[in-house]
Amino acid sequence: MVKLAEWRGKEIFRKYGVPLPPGRVARSPAEAEQWVRDGRVPLPCVIKAQVLAGGRGKGGAVRFANTPEEVRAAAQAILALEFKGERVREVLLEGKLAIGKELYVAITLDRSARVPLLLTSSQGGVEIETVEDSAIVRQPIHPFPGLAAYEKRRASQSLGLTGAAGKALSPLLDALWTAFNAEDAELIEINPLAVVGEGLVALDAKVIIEDDAGFRHPGYSEIRDDRTPLEEIAREKEIAFVQLDGDIGVIANGAGLTMATLDVLTEFGGHPGVFLDLGGTDDPAKVSEAFLLMAQARPRAVFLNIFGGVTRCDTVATGLVQAMGQIPPAERFPLVARIRGNNEVEGIEILRRAGITALSSLKESAQSVVAAAQGPAAAGGHA
Ligand code: GDP
Ligand code: MG
Repeated sequence: MVKLAEWRGKEIFRKYGVPLPPGRVARSPAEAEQWVRDGRVPLPCVIKAQVLAGGRGKGGAVRFANTPEEVRAAAQAILALEFKGERVREVLLEGKLAIGKELYVAITLDRSARVPLLLTSSQGGVEIETVEDSAIVRQPIHPFPGLAAYEKRRASQSLGLTGAAGKALSPLLDALWTAFNAEDAELIEINPLAVVGEGLVALDAKVIIEDDAGFRHPGYSEIRDDRTPLEEIAREKEIAFVQLDGDIGVIANGAGLTMATLDVLTEFGGHPGVFLDLGGTDDPAKVSEAFLLMAQARPRAVFLNIFGGVTRCDTVATGLVQAMGQIPPAERFPLVARIRGNNEVEGIEILRRAGITALSSLKESAQSVVAAAQGPAAAGGHA
């Protein structure tokens, strides 16, 4: 999943002919001021933080300015922000438009129906999650013929568009549909799509690209702004590693077992943090490397839940013990292991010799790791 910043999403919009306000990206207050002095961005203008989180409008990350001095000051204020945990490094400057109405249009994937879905709502400008269901029109789109004329008419109707603005919707939807397919997007969202005079203009852009299509779009591999620094390192080492907000590190093998483990921990009141999917590794060094990466995320406790198949239990145990030896005692955390399957007895023995207890019940081990994470930070302790 590659989530693009607004300005990158808008570059895609521009490429496919979705109407946009004139705009420029700036990385310093001086640069922002320059764009308006040059006349590349007309005044009055909007200055918007380029972060991946939504709700910028409400959160003070979208400001308006009437003079070059105000632009500079607004850019300075926004560039100093940390918005929902994300440092603002870029601002987008756009000419401010006189908005008639704010609408919502998106194309996404309906994973259960396995088709693209066109979403429209006349209640744009607010987060779509807060719009009541009945105010959103959902139309599944057949992937081969694409958007049909009647589907576009229904979309237009749902948005309450008539006249010239209604006519402008059809080519705009075609452009979105083309972009959705050609760019291998999971989501293309315009919120708000503004009615400006007789036309339509995309004021915001949210585009998510499907990771697995990355090889078709070499340019996107340069965009990594949605990964944490540790996820970045993991990616380079080809380790499946995801950082969540919780405090329990999870090491499992295979996506199914990993997801189930997260569910079980949540069920027992735990908060899974980093999780790591060892997949079908059969190299202790690789296990060790992955484990050390997890240690850097400073979990309060770690749960190792392995079902030995291709990944043998003794391989994992050996890698783990090696890694534990490299973690300074002050940075150690309680570890609960549950290993079953191929070479289980050998694996348990290796762990036991290193002072790590391996349980076989999923329930017991999950409860034990949740308790360890909630207890006082037991530096150096092994569960
Ligand atoms: P988000 O809150 O992160 O989704 O940021 P948006 O890009 O959607 O901007 C939030 C709000 O700012 C929009 O809903 C508009 O009301 C307002 N806004 C953004 N651009 C313009 C503009 O060019 N003119 C005016 N009048 N309002 C704008
Ligand atoms: Mg928006």
